[in-house]
Amino acid sequence: MNVDDLRDKTIIVTGGAQGIGKAVALRLVRAGAAVVVADIDGEASAEMAEEVAEPGALCFLPTDVSDEASVAGMVEAALAWRGAVHGLVNNAGIANPGSTPVESLDLAAWNRMIGTNLTGVFLCVKHAAAPLRAAGGAVVNIASTRALQATPHTEAYSASKGGVVSLTQALAMSLGPAVRVNVISPGWIAVNDWKKRALRTPPTLRAVDHEQHPAGRVGRPEDIAEMAAFLLSDAAGFITGQNFVVDGGMTRKMIYLD
Ligand code: NAD
Repeated sequence: MNVDDLRDKTIIVTGGAQGIGKAVALRLVRAGAAVVVADIDGEASAEMAEEVAEPGALCFLPTDVSDEASVAGMVEAALAWRGAVHGLVNNAGIANPGSTPVESLDLAAWNRMIGTNLTGVFLCVKHAAAPLRAAGGAVVNIASTRALQATPHTEAYSASKGGVVSLTQALAMSLGPAVRVNVISPGWIAVNDWKKRALRTPPTLRAVDHEQHPAGRVGRPEDIAEMAAFLLSDAAGFITGQNFVVDGGMTRKMIYLD
């Protein structure tokens, strides 16, 4: 099986109704997979269902990844749909890193961020582990370059993504050899065009936004989707426990002031 052949595979993509997750879900469908879109946003899911050319390849299951009963029900429904789960992409997240000084960051906001971005990954893997083992499957988690570098006042988001990188390593040890587990750390990915209509805004990217990247441009959801499709495929059979930074080279750029 190569990266463009995910036929007969059933893959869950959390947060798959918008942004990066939507691009991942549609890329996997293009490779032949049946994809469960597990998203909390019903409006976004309904819009996506209207848009797709292959509706039979997608199953929309309303899910809150921070809620264990919701996750358990989603995995059960995925199994009822196709009888197996071969892949899991833990993409759902509160994508806004925020900007609240730690002295005034309230515990509820911290817990909400950790609950979705980190505990959500744990819960999805916990409930999908048995079918993934049975299928000899693969997990791809979505962290962030903010697991590796920071701007001020982003403690909750940064910690959640650092946690996802460490969780990935541990899971790769625990679930191998049956299941491979990797993580992608995206840099700046422009998701505006992949949002539900109500959240789309006029384009705001400036030349300097693109030019500061060693790769010459801001990232696109498709950049992450390509890496996810590869990591889920048998072509990546010798790769597990790894963090793939997909950021146009930004974390390799020396930034000391002259
Ligand atoms: P987005 O907001 O466009 O999409 C996130 C999706 O997740 C939405 O459809 C939302 O409804 C869903 N979601 C949120 N909370 C959920 C929950 N509790 N249960 C189920 N679904 C839920 O965000 P995005 O920019 O596409 O980000 C996707 C992932 O990539 C996130 O984990 C984010 O942290 C990460 N990331 C994004 C960027 C970027 O620049 N866009 C960079 C690094 C990492």
